[in-house]
Amino acid sequence: MKYFCLIFSLSGGFILNAQTNLENDFKIIEPKVVEWRRHFHEHPELSNQEFKTAETIAEHLTSLGIEVQTGVAKTGVVGVLKGNSPGKVVALRADIDGLPVTERNELPFKSNVKAEFMGTKTGVMHACGHDTHIAILMGVAEVLSKHKDKINGTVKFIFQPAEEGPPPGEEGGAKLMIKEGVLKEPKVDAIFGLHINSATPVGTIKYKSGGIMAAVERFVIHIKGKQSHGSQPWLGVDPIVISAKIIDGLQTIISRESDLTEEAAVITVGKITSGVRFNIIPESAELIGTVRSLDTDMKAKIIKRMTEMTETIAKAYGGEATITFENFTSITYNDPDLTTTMLPTLQKVAGADHVVLTKAVTGGEDFSYFQEVVPGLYFFLGGMTPGNTEAFPHHTQDFIIDESGLLLGVKTMTQLAIDYLKLD
Ligand SMILES: [Zn+2]
Ligand SMILES: [Zn+2]
Repeated sequence: MKYFCLIFSLSGGFILNAQTNLENDFKIIEPKVVEWRRHFHEHPELSNQEFKTAETIAEHLTSLGIEVQTGVAKTGVVGVLKGNSPGKVVALRADIDGLPVTERNELPFKSNVKAEFMGTKTGVMHACGHDTHIAILMGVAEVLSKHKDKINGTVKFIFQPAEEGPPPGEEGGAKLMIKEGVLKEPKVDAIFGLHINSATPVGTIKYKSGGIMAAVERFVIHIKGKQSHGSQPWLGVDPIVISAKIIDGLQTIISRESDLTEEAAVITVGKITSGVRFNIIPESAELIGTVRSLDTDMKAKIIKRMTEMTETIAKAYGGEATITFENFTSITYNDPDLTTTMLPTLQKVAGADHVVLTKAVTGGEDFSYFQEVVPGLYFFLGGMTPGNTEAFPHHTQDFIIDESGLLLGVKTMTQLAIDYLKLD
């Protein structure tokens, strides 16, 4: 039993040999992770179409002796690694989809994949870095499976499709995985996830307790007025003027009514449609926009006030208006207790100087749905070449990740699982 007690020492911490051993495993895994990442980068697949990606993941997990379930939420793969004795269940999640973006990087493993997206032929690219997430979690699975007999508890590997959103009319992503029971049997106690970041230097981890990424809602406002000749507005009810008043009113919800010392929030109207020509006051108008929020109570209040304002403002000007909301992601909410408990793990792996408290991001992430069911911790992993000052943003043709950042991802997720399962 050479490795017995390598993971769990009696004192609850790591003994020297254990760390050395894991270090060896990490050294062995790094080139494999890079190779996997290049493979996935060259062969990206769109949301809900990650068939080949899933096949490669499932083959790898099976080869490690991990119990594998495929076809979860259409193309998701779930691996269950049971330790030598019962204990807690920790889930580690990686999202696996690419985006309809045509790659402009000149790389030996550049994507030349094309696909049809909403009726348009487009290039496909891992332009958000989910290729790195898959490779990192495959690496974690390999390292942890080597130490299976020393794990008290269970590790669930969740390879999640369609994080970028399923195609219109389809279900998918974290929401569908939860619906299909991914957090049950065995019941998950806590979940960890990361996102590579092209603007954070390699070696750095960014975290935040509480809301780290925003809840994303899409809203649609329908305004009904009364059509008339443009020269005789007194005979009609002008939905364009009502639109202006509603937009004006909505903006005061953030600027005048929200306690911005608590959290930030955003209301944006991104599209206005109304009218056909200069001398007709049209019958209706439509406004489409988004709300971003980082606090559940604030979100509820914003939605309530938006509804009240839309209806009453339209009424005040003689028209009618309705507003509907569609939820895209919840708040990526890092459980404060779990964050405090696991922070020493992040610091141990990356070095305390390299674990940085970050501001919240007003973009959304569907990892948030898992965190609505079980406590979770989501953090950002550096993927920018140190010294580089020009990072190309996620979702662009030039988006690029420095592969030397991947190993820290493997180490962090591995250690989070080990340390979490050790907790009483
Ligand atoms: Zn993305
Ligand atoms: Zn992403």
